Amino acid sequence: MTRTRRTTALALCLGIVLVLVFSSVFIIHEADHVCVSEDCEICAQVTAAVLLQRGFALAGMILPALLAGLFAARKYRAASHRFYCASPSLIAWKIRLND
Ligand SMILES: [Zn+2]
Repeated sequence: MTRTRRTTALALCLGIVLVLVFSSVFIIHEADHVCVSEDCEICAQVTAAVLLQRGFALAGMILPALLAGLFAARKYRAASHRFYCASPSLIAWKIRLND
């Protein structure tokens, strides 16, 4: 992984963590606010923050399963490649037959 990709990934993870922390703080802070009407803007923002956290929670459940699948596929591919290369052939040994 190059340095630029690593920095981008780190910034993205930090942004996600900050979004989750600040949305949690907002929900806790505004949990007992006084609603002035049915069209309360604070309630709308709290609902949006809850939906945002649910979205991240869903991604947090799907991502480990996806990573486990990728890890298993990589192991399977490495094992099949090892089996294929174990059979001796000129192509496996990278020997070229010139006329
Ligand atoms: Zn409200």
